[in-house]
Amino acid sequence: MNKTVEKYLQVETVSLWIDGKATAAKSTRLGEVTNPATGNVIRYVPMANAADIDAAVLAAQAALPAWRNTPALRRARVIQKFLTLMQANVKELARLISEEHGKTLPDAIGSIERGVEVVEFACGVPHLLKGEHSENVGTDVDCYTLRQPVGVCAGITPFNFPAMVPLWMFPMAIACGNTFILKPSEKVPSASMKMAALFQEAGLPDGVFNVVHGDKEAVEAILNHRGIAAVSFVGSTPVARYIYETCARNGKRVQALGGAKNHAIVLPDADLEFAANALVGAGYGSAGERCMAISSVVAVGGIAGELVGKLNAKAEAIRIGPGDVPGVDMGPLVTSNHRDRVKDYIETGQREGALLVKDGRGFKVAGYENGFYLGTTLFDNVTPEMTIYKDEIFGPVLLVLRVDTLEEAIKLVNANPYANGTAIFTRSGGAARHFENEIQVGMVGINVPIPVPMAFYSFGGWKNSLFGDLHIYGMEGVKFYTRTKTITSRWPDTGTPGTGMNMPTLG
Ligand code: NAD
Repeated sequence: MNKTVEKYLQVETVSLWIDGKATAAKSTRLGEVTNPATGNVIRYVPMANAADIDAAVLAAQAALPAWRNTPALRRARVIQKFLTLMQANVKELARLISEEHGKTLPDAIGSIERGVEVVEFACGVPHLLKGEHSENVGTDVDCYTLRQPVGVCAGITPFNFPAMVPLWMFPMAIACGNTFILKPSEKVPSASMKMAALFQEAGLPDGVFNVVHGDKEAVEAILNHRGIAAVSFVGSTPVARYIYETCARNGKRVQALGGAKNHAIVLPDADLEFAANALVGAGYGSAGERCMAISSVVAVGGIAGELVGKLNAKAEAIRIGPGDVPGVDMGPLVTSNHRDRVKDYIETGQREGALLVKDGRGFKVAGYENGFYLGTTLFDNVTPEMTIYKDEIFGPVLLVLRVDTLEEAIKLVNANPYANGTAIFTRSGGAARHFENEIQVGMVGINVPIPVPMAFYSFGGWKNSLFGDLHIYGMEGVKFYTRTKTITSRWPDTGTPGTGMNMPTLG
């Protein structure tokens, strides 16, 4: 169906979710949501303006006093019900994600499950919020800390994980007693709306969780709203840097996770079959649109030829098609613009002298000629000066660089300005230990290609992959969404001490 026909058929417009209700936006500006598998416009999405953000902030502010004073165990019980509802609705959420993002249904289910792990972690919030207590820090004086919510928090999320990345943020923030405004990617608005409805069904009071849609205009309004105390962002590096700087200037707490260029080092002693299987999954899974995708393989010593042969054969075997068709391994890219941008990178790589082993351009899926498909692409003999190495491509394009030693490989990875994830493939414990110690990257895998930490650890890269001090979810998430208050107390039952003009000391 073409766009004109669909417009004629009145494609639905997604609502905002404010104060526990699907709410029409005040803004009249609309964006298109496409199904990448077909190329059709399937919904319109409102591009919220400052008045819409203001309405969301008012709802979140109104809900805050009661929610922050709700006992943590009672908050945890609502989170527990939300967990059950999320588990019961995985298939429906996966359908929405596949429809708007393009990834396969099993991959979408996997990503939801990884997000739901954070909800499971958040169920333990009464324990996580416990402070410290010291008795008798001075005579009859005690000292203790409270972890209190920050206030109204906002989350701004990317297109590539429509449920998982929002789930990194709002369950923890809300469990900690904050209220929350989520601004998901305008390309994939529906999963957030579904989660908001499920959270309400779980018993979450109105106004505690709100969803606004939109682009830069909505984001600007969030960054500049005095009623928002903290912002969590996940997206590309230039936007992450901007969010971090603007929030810091505006006195907001901020964590801004950026883009990536993740390397896997393959040592000569590695099991090459095992490594190649892992690398093909990590490079082409979700069409390479993962912040933890492996995009650069660093082949050490004489194994490069054999490794490239294996990668090529396995990349060839990947079945590409609509994400909801059984047996498909890899879906389309998110938009035609993004697909064309990735194609341009392939041309640039060729022009700059990399060896194009497998070219995904020109790939078509019969019956889905308007879908945003691109075949798997493999480059060999890539060097660090090339644009395809320097830029984040975010598509199904795997690069192989050749070096002679592990030291050279470590130096290469450490020289890259991105530092989200990395992996090493080896049978040597000593080499792996040396790598884990020396590598300047936030998340490290040893024979594990995509080392996304479990919810009871924290997720975050270094350097240009994260601006801010605290990683996301886990205990770092608890720290981000709470402020420490330190109380020093005395109960002078035996008479008030005299006036003290000097700095109090233990004496
Ligand atoms: P993006 O930076 O284009 O968009 C992210 C969010 O910012 C969206 O909500 C979008 O509406 C908003 N936005 C876009 N341009 C903006 C602007 N100029 N001003 C203000 N807001 C703006 O990212 P994307 O294309 O949606 O997602 C892909 C990127 O996200 C990749 O770079 C990927 O590596 C990164 N990512 C990082 C992680 C991580 O954990 N580090 C996880 C997932 C994705």
